[in-house]
Amino acid sequence: MIVAEELSPLLKKDFGYDAFRPLQREIMEEALAPRDVLAILPTGAGKSLCYQLPALARGGVTLVISPLIALMKDQVDQLTASGVSATFLNSTLEPQENRRRLDAILAGEVKLVYLAPERLMSGDFLSVVRTWNVTALAVDEAHCISEWGHDFRPEYRRLRELRTALPEVPVIALTATATPRVREDILGQLALRDPAVFVASFNRPNLNYLVEPKQDAVSRIVEFIGGRGQDSGIVYAQSRKRSEELAACLRNAGITAVCYHAGLEAADRARNQEAFLRDEVRVVCATVAFGMGINKPDVRFVIHADLPKNLEGYYQETGRAGRDGLPADCLLLFSRGDVTKVLRFIDEIPDGEARDHARLQLERMADFAESDACRRVDLIGYFGESWPEGNCGACDNCLAPRESWDATVETQKFLSCILRVKQNGGSAVGIRHLSDILAGSRAEKVLARNHDKLSTYGIGKEHSAATWAELARQFARKGWIAVDGGTYPTVTITHEGAALLRERRTVSLSRLMAVEKP
Ligand code: ADP
Ligand code: ZN
Repeated sequence: MIVAEELSPLLKKDFGYDAFRPLQREIMEEALAPRDVLAILPTGAGKSLCYQLPALARGGVTLVISPLIALMKDQVDQLTASGVSATFLNSTLEPQENRRRLDAILAGEVKLVYLAPERLMSGDFLSVVRTWNVTALAVDEAHCISEWGHDFRPEYRRLRELRTALPEVPVIALTATATPRVREDILGQLALRDPAVFVASFNRPNLNYLVEPKQDAVSRIVEFIGGRGQDSGIVYAQSRKRSEELAACLRNAGITAVCYHAGLEAADRARNQEAFLRDEVRVVCATVAFGMGINKPDVRFVIHADLPKNLEGYYQETGRAGRDGLPADCLLLFSRGDVTKVLRFIDEIPDGEARDHARLQLERMADFAESDACRRVDLIGYFGESWPEGNCGACDNCLAPRESWDATVETQKFLSCILRVKQNGGSAVGIRHLSDILAGSRAEKVLARNHDKLSTYGIGKEHSAATWAELARQFARKGWIAVDGGTYPTVTITHEGAALLRERRTVSLSRLMAVEKP
């Protein structure tokens, strides 16, 4: 039995730390009990220590499943440097070196063995693993096991076989991102038994969140970065090509920048990453391929030049800023056009359920961007965490609340239009369709259903259909209308919305985010 008191001396001796970070000790105690553990801690919280230290405290070997070879090598190098016996096995090793490592493991000379999941499932590797004295299994980046996460890796699904091969061995699963759904998936896929679940706060108090309408993005990015001395940061773009273009634009403006994406040669990727880590360049313009396992503490800003596909991705990417705890800014440039672009990719997803899920996630992301509510409250709320009270007082919406305007007439027009369509018979329609009716559009689908004959047709000509659509999304956030999911989402009035219309309540809304001011 290992007791908690024995952990602190090891913490100092092997890792050189004086104290545990929040939840680390609790997690280790449960793991050593031994008990299965799921630990959800934000990036930088110190997840690795949660399995590394117990590995030293107990006998036998701890297997660590980690998705990235580069990450694995870094960790093993660090551990070896501090005198901990660790090694990794993956496809990059020469057969001889591989043999040597396997022998050392079998001889009980190694405390931590890092494995890529694909290695684990190759050939009869499972039966080899069974001959080792495995006493714990750590699954890093455990969200990779879930299709509902943002980084699904099919090989992770096969971890279940490892679990079955080592039925008695306790498991610790760790991740920085897990919505309730992903969390359930991890628990189920890894068949965790009566697990202790730890969820650290997702709030990153030193990060400032701001969202701006995207107009002339390149100039805005140049201006933003240009005004920040020698600070370094990351600019995320949706495509490889765009990340290259942005890096070129920054260099033209006299800002040192490189790009990073999965289409580059491995050597170029490594060189660019090094240049950024060593402060030889200020900025890396990248796709989502950049970031996992990169630990640069003083990233002072993260800019999203394009809309991320979901809030997990956004949180993860912005989370790479300010790991040193000092203030950092996260700027998202938002346009509805980006939503349409991403939707085109989503439409290609063959599986219906996955496609609908991706759509909903994207809408949720757009909702975050368009919302006039506190960014922080919204973001941590997405991860199932509630904010103690009030707002954060530190995001753009809190610091500079948008001016409000009297939207009573607009609200009445929109809600009445829903009623007219309904009274006219036929099925319910979506936001775009209603917006087209109000704006008096001659769109095919409007004419085909004789909606140009409705009394509400064209009564909202003072705004474009795009403005109406944005207003509608604001109504949805207020809970006055409900938009159901699915391939062709349709709109209905909620009880609240009906009451509002019936009682002719005055409505005050904050200025719209992206399109022209009504
Ligand atoms: P995560 O995997 O959660 O993103 P890491 O395990 O990479 O985080 O740890 C982030 C950083 O914090 C590392 O540099 C690590 O050495 C450091 N760290 C972890 N635990 C402690 C601790 N108890 N005291 C001081 N530093 C720590
Ligand atoms: Zn706020």
